[in-house]
Amino acid sequence: MRSTSGVPLTRLGFDVGGTKILGVATSDGGAAARTLREATPAGADKLVDTLVAMAHELAPATGQVTIGVGMAGFISTAGVVTVSPNLVGVDGATIGADLSAKLGVPVSFDNEVNCAARWELQYGAAQRIRHGVMVAVGTGIGGAFMVDGEVLRGANGLAGEPGHMIVEAGGRVCLCGRQGCWEMYASGSALNRLAVERLGPGVTGPDVTAAVRAGDAGAQAVLNEFSHWLALGISNLCVLTDPDMVVIGGGISEDWDLLAEPVDEHLGDMLIGRTSESRPAVVRSEAGELSAALGAALGGAAGDSAALGKPSQLA
Ligand SMILES: [Zn+2]
Repeated sequence: MRSTSGVPLTRLGFDVGGTKILGVATSDGGAAARTLREATPAGADKLVDTLVAMAHELAPATGQVTIGVGMAGFISTAGVVTVSPNLVGVDGATIGADLSAKLGVPVSFDNEVNCAARWELQYGAAQRIRHGVMVAVGTGIGGAFMVDGEVLRGANGLAGEPGHMIVEAGGRVCLCGRQGCWEMYASGSALNRLAVERLGPGVTGPDVTAAVRAGDAGAQAVLNEFSHWLALGISNLCVLTDPDMVVIGGGISEDWDLLAEPVDEHLGDMLIGRTSESRPAVVRSEAGELSAALGAALGGAAGDSAALGKPSQLA
């Protein structure tokens, strides 16, 4: 793609998660031309510095760029990180505005799964549906509701955070301060904890999925237990929103081939009011863990480059 002045345009997109930052460079938002991965540092200042360095590494030596950032947590429409339980020292920060000031380029800033859902609507699994739910399972669980082909923002921009709906009253204490949140049972971190509890010290979630691939029955039992919790939250989202489709993103989507069947089995017992014809399809994001970074590169609305501001050269 070229900017209006005819100069080659590169869209940069970042997905800031609790563990890692994924950065992409893309010309149209459909696929990544380059990707970059860094550990998520603690604190807003270090986070902005890391994004500045990544932007310089991803941007071409010459030409104009646009920048979008998606970040885990409750991101208000005013661009404030109101709460981000899986990141350290960022509550109250204005990451998008701070990054924009350092790079001299406008920055679009939103929740990372809202960004991923926009990518799914424009390029991915949700292109042909009107009503969907996106569930991104990583360090925590993020979400987004697709309503009439748009991503639901809510009154303050904070809609679609199912990781903090309570699925076990009085249950595990969550990083948000409440007890029994879904992400304490069905996130990547929760799978790590379950692996230790059931299989012993030092066993991780990736160990479990690797062992399942090798045919280990004990690991399969752990994955089935984890699938129950995943399905429980998905069934709650289906009761609330009656989606055509549930799109699974985040790191866990890389192992969706192992989870699809047990989750579907549990969902069959949990869904209310659905026939086999009206059951929502539960599918993996077509961009896997890159969907949020690619969606961030699209800007504030699917294909709405105005939300990204005027393409500029990095300062
Ligand atoms: Zn919580």
